[in-house]
Amino acid sequence: MPRWLRITLIILVLLLVTGGGAYYWLIGDGNPPGTLQAYRLDLEAVRAKAEELPGGKASAIEVETIARFSFPAVAAVGGDGWEGKPLGVFSYQIVLPTDTIVVDTAFPADLVTGIDADIDAAAYARMDQAMADATQIVVTHEHADHIGGIVANDDPARLQKALRLTSEQVASLPSYGLALPTALSDYMPLDYADMIALAPGVVLVRAPGHTPGSQLVYVKREDGRELLFIGDIGWTERNIETGKGRPRLVSQFILNEDRDAVFAELAWLKALHEAEPDLAIVPGHDLEAVDALVASGALRAGFTSQF
Ligand SMILES: [Zn+2]
Repeated sequence: MPRWLRITLIILVLLLVTGGGAYYWLIGDGNPPGTLQAYRLDLEAVRAKAEELPGGKASAIEVETIARFSFPAVAAVGGDGWEGKPLGVFSYQIVLPTDTIVVDTAFPADLVTGIDADIDAAAYARMDQAMADATQIVVTHEHADHIGGIVANDDPARLQKALRLTSEQVASLPSYGLALPTALSDYMPLDYADMIALAPGVVLVRAPGHTPGSQLVYVKREDGRELLFIGDIGWTERNIETGKGRPRLVSQFILNEDRDAVFAELAWLKALHEAEPDLAIVPGHDLEAVDALVASGALRAGFTSQF
């Protein structure tokens, strides 16, 4: 049983004793706080940034499903039910005309003990090779299920030139029980103000809250299709559609995230989703949402492109 689930069950038993109000406060409340901060991000500025670097944009974005697991739906959206929600751990490959960018690197089997995940070793090996071949490697944030392929890499020195970890991500690693491999001890982190263009059509945007180093990855493909990778600001599509977030038990007591900042970002994403329905917002772990994006052609299943 995962540690967090054990904690949850213990707290549930305590709640049976202390009553329903405490249950609601800890688990039943996925609503934005009464005084919601504003997350101000102008999509047009991101789009303009995406045109900053000359050259051909991505022809495709590929996804590997490295692991599959299940959490109760209520862990992602406070107040939802206890039925299992199928989740995945993903890695993405942005396929540019002459090179590739890897976004998120999952984790190897021995790194994460809190998730009872079924890891696909062949998919992990394809991701590991893609990381070695990539000209740039970024992560949406510095949690083990996104940065694990870097911190636990067998040959980290070969990744050094491509790594684009930010200062905030590197600085926060110890608070999540992680560290860069010693072979990367002289790695110079990426610093940027609000957003930075990585490649034609590819922009990183700061979005701290879930972790200090959380960021969005915006991609405009050559055919004009737009995708926005939001990391774990929302684990599931329902977070984006409803603007609702994780219950306090998960967000404050297990993840120790900046709950108000995450809710502000979810409010912005909900409004964005309504205003720009063609822009594909990719939540952190929603297996069904990623399958739907593959079916729609926004993503391609499997890292098939190599240079
Ligand atoms: Zn995650």
